[in-house]
Amino acid sequence: MKKHLIIALLVSGSLSTACVAQPAPTAGAPARPAAAAPRGSPLPPPTPAEHITGNVYKIFGGGGNTLVIVQDAGVVLVDTKMPDNGQAILDEVRKITDKPITTIINTHSHPDHIGSTDFIRAQFPNVRVISSEATKTEITANPQHNPAVVPNETYTGRMTIGEGADRIELYSFGRSHTAGDTFVVVPSARLLFMGDVMAWNMAPFLPAGGAMEIADVVEQLVATVKDVDIVVEGHGHVNDWAGLQRMAKFNRALVTNARAAYDRGDAPGTAVAELQRNPDFAVLLDTKIKPGLEYGNTPLARAHMNVNVAFQEFAGEPVGFGVANGQPLAQTDKHKGSNPADTAPPAAPQSGAAAQPHAH
Ligand SMILES: [Zn+2]
Ligand SMILES: [Zn+2]
Repeated sequence: MKKHLIIALLVSGSLSTACVAQPAPTAGAPARPAAAAPRGSPLPPPTPAEHITGNVYKIFGGGGNTLVIVQDAGVVLVDTKMPDNGQAILDEVRKITDKPITTIINTHSHPDHIGSTDFIRAQFPNVRVISSEATKTEITANPQHNPAVVPNETYTGRMTIGEGADRIELYSFGRSHTAGDTFVVVPSARLLFMGDVMAWNMAPFLPAGGAMEIADVVEQLVATVKDVDIVVEGHGHVNDWAGLQRMAKFNRALVTNARAAYDRGDAPGTAVAELQRNPDFAVLLDTKIKPGLEYGNTPLARAHMNVNVAFQEFAGEPVGFGVANGQPLAQTDKHKGSNPADTAPPAAPQSGAAAQPHAH
């Protein structure tokens, strides 16, 4: 029932895009029962904040990762999960500090990253809510958007917040996972938050296409940002700079191999097979469902999806996902040749938890 509700919401546009987050417990932890999901969300509640480094913490669950940066004058949050998780976020912050929340940065327009901005704003009326201009445009383009999540400050290209130890740098290089994803750099922590351009250490979800653009953007990011060691992904993982460099090479190899296969008239699966020949990409082409990602695809299946997205784009076909990415891709299945088992959703989990579509 939950599955059908979410699909209906996605198809009807009640959620701003086909991008719903999923449970993101700490790696290795069992998925929580869906019955524990907070009102209005298909997801389990946030899990306790984890200390990453210095003054930076991360809260899993209830949507995308929420980054908590404790500064001199107050707290900066990056992303606010699905709606109705605001109190849980605040409760976790209060275990760390009594300082007010001064700033929210929303990496992109998807509901699993902006959903509880309204709650935080109600508690802290002077809070700065910052996103890229393109993200604000995407949010407000949805006629059913919640006005209380709309950013009150935007930027294009690059923005600096604060100074000294409290300095944060925002970068946006254009369309990638969405029209204007923001990358957040905390120089004092040598840390970069990726949003959903990198999540679960697998090929990025491309709900509106952009296989070539996301390869360009991640390369640009790697070439621009300096002095980062810790790379926090939009869902799930804390990775590192080498992991981001690997992802940049992988995204590029994926579109390069896809283009060559397309031009030869070969099937999409041949491009994936070429990726599999590079041992450095093995972790990005895993064939097992990851803990916390029981409702989604394997990394290998995501790579197949993205090669199919690239094929659609080469053919000039519209890319669109009628439902979230746990589902077969009707539009891309016509490019036969990938192993159908790799683009089908995984078998439903045995126990009580209802299968849910997800995004990343
Ligand atoms: Zn997300
Ligand atoms: Zn997203």
